[in-house]
Amino acid sequence: MKIAILGAMVEEITPILARVQIQKEHEIGHNRYYEACYKNLELVIAYSKIGKVNAALSASVMFLHFGAQKLIFSGVAGGIAESLKVGDLVVADKLCQHDVDITAFGHPFGFIPETTLFYEADSGLNVLAINAAKSCNLRFQIGTIATGDQFIASPERKNWVAKQFNAIALEMEGAAVAAICAALGKPFCVLRAISDAADADANVSFDTFLEKSARESADLLFLMLEQM
Ligand code: SAH
Repeated sequence: MKIAILGAMVEEITPILARVQIQKEHEIGHNRYYEACYKNLELVIAYSKIGKVNAALSASVMFLHFGAQKLIFSGVAGGIAESLKVGDLVVADKLCQHDVDITAFGHPFGFIPETTLFYEADSGLNVLAINAAKSCNLRFQIGTIATGDQFIASPERKNWVAKQFNAIALEMEGAAVAAICAALGKPFCVLRAISDAADADANVSFDTFLEKSARESADLLFLMLEQM
């Protein structure tokens, strides 16, 4: 079984690449893909670059070119829930696109005809993530992650996303990956560690905690891989 491991930024996959045996590197569509081994697992690892289009491209390449059978996303996110602190983990039970707006035609925010508003993560992979987090007493929450092509650094926008989608965290790739997985019938899960609170200081917090939070997410990923 080949597992795709995707991040958005190089900082998100560096701690992952450090712990696997890299076998081959490929350059496709201006992205680098690493074929690697971890214990008896075959992996393909990449960072997509930021945003929904880039994430969708990388996820598609991992399935259609490399033949991955499932996908785990690991990275950082802005926290919405008050109780989420920097470094806390979020496991998405479902994901949506908060920046989709064709409401002029009577559709709800986030909805694209012939697709779904919420994409559900694989319950089996999520159970692995949750058990791993519990077994190590890690602080984590399960809930909706809202994705959009915007770095949110505004209480107003964050509160709107919270109210509209009942989301606990937001980021810029998860729902795009989820949409590809749904279209191709592949199981996936999205792990994120909080880097900021999506408020007025979000950029400073993000820069301060990106590497540390990316490592927390990668640590949870490896706890999952141990069980696979
Ligand atoms: N500092 C980077 C830009 C980071 S964009 C640069 O200058 O190139 C933020 C990234 O982290 C995205 O990949 C997104 O998925 C995640 N993220 C973390 N906090 C976020 C927030 N508050 N809003 C949206 N995405 C966030």
